[in-house]
Amino acid sequence: MSTAFPRPEEMSRRRFLGTAAIGALAAPMSLAGMGGPALAAEPAGKGPAASARPILLKRGCVLTLDRAVGDFESADVLIEKGKIVAVKPGITAPTAEVIDASRTIVMPSFVDTHRHIWEGILRNVLPDGSLGDYFRVVTGTLGPAYRPDDVYAGNLVSALGAIDAGVTTVLDWSHIQNTPEHTDSAIQALRDSGVRAVFAYGSPQLGPPNKWWEDTRHKYPEDIRRLRKQYFSSEDQLLTLALAGVPFPTDVALSSWKVARDVGARITVHVGVGQFGKRADVQKLGEAGALKSDTTYIHACTLSDTEWKMIADTGGTLSLAGYVEMMMGHGLPPIQKALNAGIRPSLSVDVETSVPGDFFTQMRTILSLQRNAIWERDLAGEKNLPALLKTRDVLEFATIEGARACGLEGKIGTLTPGKQADIIMLRTDRLNVLPVNNATGAVVTSMDASNVDTVLIGGKVMKRNGRLVGVDMGRVTRLAYEARDRVMTRSGYQRSPL
Ligand SMILES: [Zn+2]
Repeated sequence: MSTAFPRPEEMSRRRFLGTAAIGALAAPMSLAGMGGPALAAEPAGKGPAASARPILLKRGCVLTLDRAVGDFESADVLIEKGKIVAVKPGITAPTAEVIDASRTIVMPSFVDTHRHIWEGILRNVLPDGSLGDYFRVVTGTLGPAYRPDDVYAGNLVSALGAIDAGVTTVLDWSHIQNTPEHTDSAIQALRDSGVRAVFAYGSPQLGPPNKWWEDTRHKYPEDIRRLRKQYFSSEDQLLTLALAGVPFPTDVALSSWKVARDVGARITVHVGVGQFGKRADVQKLGEAGALKSDTTYIHACTLSDTEWKMIADTGGTLSLAGYVEMMMGHGLPPIQKALNAGIRPSLSVDVETSVPGDFFTQMRTILSLQRNAIWERDLAGEKNLPALLKTRDVLEFATIEGARACGLEGKIGTLTPGKQADIIMLRTDRLNVLPVNNATGAVVTSMDASNVDTVLIGGKVMKRNGRLVGVDMGRVTRLAYEARDRVMTRSGYQRSPL
């Protein structure tokens, strides 16, 4: 979802809380009393060090998703200093902490390439909503009422929810940068959650018509220069930096994308969304020479063939949020168009206002959609049809293609020795999946987030025996409800409780 497309009906709506909310230059929330580390100008997402002891995952069914390494019905994974050092049967490591991985499938954790996690406190607020509802309610009414501590709560609960579901890398498409303090709070929550994230610095929510480029109360996109220095001076950390860019107006897009490239940040952008997507934004940017391999295109449902060719020719990556696209009116998820263009997509949740936060849903959505489209053509008598997607394909979309779209394929996405140990262990001794006859099929066809038993990020155990490690659920719950109530009250929005 993007706010780059103000709807006509938004233009006449009253501005919500104008200066009171937007100009709220409150200091970042004090974290001292909340159990989190103090906010400081230190690298983001450094986090506690991974276990000093090696970790040995013993006798799991291992899907490395690295074709050179292969998969194993039973093998061990050795982790040292946060990295995978070996994957094979029968590893001995006398000093290692051993985790019994039998009765689990061990695989790379999921990578979500586009989620607006500031909306974590707005989960299921629009279960039946359209794009128009989203612009009216979420970005038009609720977003402008956010203060920094609300961003913190939204980011924290969504990031922890992602980890809990085995999604250990999230591109946080953070278009809630109403003030620099909002930005600091968003980053602080990512750090406190322990998730691996691409912080995609985005535009503010100013209320209708949200023409932020004509507004002077925020610092988008120039503040990304500060972020690079203050939080993202190193690539060797859990958090990395991108620009959540706009595709329109073209001159604004060109100038803001240039700022991102000045500081070496990748770009992620919503395109091809409903009727707005037919505006030829991508073509104009392509003709201006702005399309490069550092850019991920989200949705892309209603792009022209010319635009698809431009994206493919310039090496762009793709993020499909199939479930939300079908629920809210973006247009048909362009899985076949992508495959025809030679682009294997990554997957994304987008908005938890209307979509579940797990990746099993995302994989099954794209798999069933593509296969149904091919079967329909087959039923109509068409010959020489494109190949049907297989479960293995969508498992790769959810992992290695996600890593690629985040610029992290050298670090994560497969269980390859030398990569970071971002790993999930999925229980196979559960009633929704036993007996397991095919591991890939079990994950994609039968499992859900309840199978996620153990989660590691950079070799650090984040979830064990089905429970998050070191998370004060009482605190998280309190923060989420309090922030939700504040935003609802401030905005005057009446949610529908039943
Ligand atoms: Zn979105």
